[in-house]
Amino acid sequence: MAGFNVRSVLVTGASRGIGLGLAKQFLGKSNPPKWVFATCRDPEGAQAQELKTLASRHPNLMIVALEVTDPASIKAAAARVEEHLKGSGLNLLINNAGILRLNTLESETPEDMSLVYATNVTGPLLVSQAFLPLLKKAAQGSPQPGLSCSKAAIVNMSSEGGSITNPFAWQLGQVISYRCSKAALNMLTKCQSLGYGGDGILSIAVHPGWVQTDMGSSASHQVPLTVDMSVRGILNVLPTLSEKDNGAFVDWEGKVLPW
Ligand code: NDP
Repeated sequence: MAGFNVRSVLVTGASRGIGLGLAKQFLGKSNPPKWVFATCRDPEGAQAQELKTLASRHPNLMIVALEVTDPASIKAAAARVEEHLKGSGLNLLINNAGILRLNTLESETPEDMSLVYATNVTGPLLVSQAFLPLLKKAAQGSPQPGLSCSKAAIVNMSSEGGSITNPFAWQLGQVISYRCSKAALNMLTKCQSLGYGGDGILSIAVHPGWVQTDMGSSASHQVPLTVDMSVRGILNVLPTLSEKDNGAFVDWEGKVLPW
């Protein structure tokens, strides 16, 4: 991680779980970003308390309101971040916010299919669209050749549960809407890699492992990874990614996963 020089990063869904862990570990780096934008739905609410405590210790942390299912909220967040960056671009956008509903083939509902898709797929699409000008600016302003996460990148937090070849832990939970949403997010990542690669922006889907968070523990099974382990792994993998990885699906240890 030592060579990972990111000037600015934005993490969605940073109120808890992996998003909060990412914000904490970026801030704890020996060469932290100049700006860490940690977004949450309600910066004034109880969910933002940990972020607020973190911000009181780290002036380079900015808490931004962002509800990923609300286009107006996304636009307002992009405008706020642009204002703070004062003419420079955003290097790294991490679309981490996500939801899971514990449904089966029998119990899955239209409402949950729609809400999970809106949050896990349409959200990252709209957030990426809104921050694209700032990502392009970062790419254009960088002297680095090729593609990299320290130049300009979109990281979509996916799940091996969305792998069609190897649908992780089917016996433990069918989670139909969630699996479908992550398969779609992987396709979105591929499309972004095709569409944005020419602009100098790397797009990647990352499976964080099975992690002890509210979501990871929701099916009450033994969960192997702590947030700290998963995030440390992810932050070791991101700096190793380059042009050849554009549009790939990798896990927290850097292993390429099948779609
Ligand atoms: P958590 O449930 O612990 O946290 C989810 C985060 O997303 C919270 O900050 C939550 O905010 C935010 N969020 C949810 N809906 C929205 C929304 N509509 N707008 C804005 N923010 C929202 O999940 P994890 O930390 O475990 O998961 C993070 C990502 O990693 C997800 O994309 C998940 O699918 C993925 N993942 C997780 C795995 C695991 O084992 N934990 C395994 C594979 C993938 P709020 O506090 O306001 O609810």
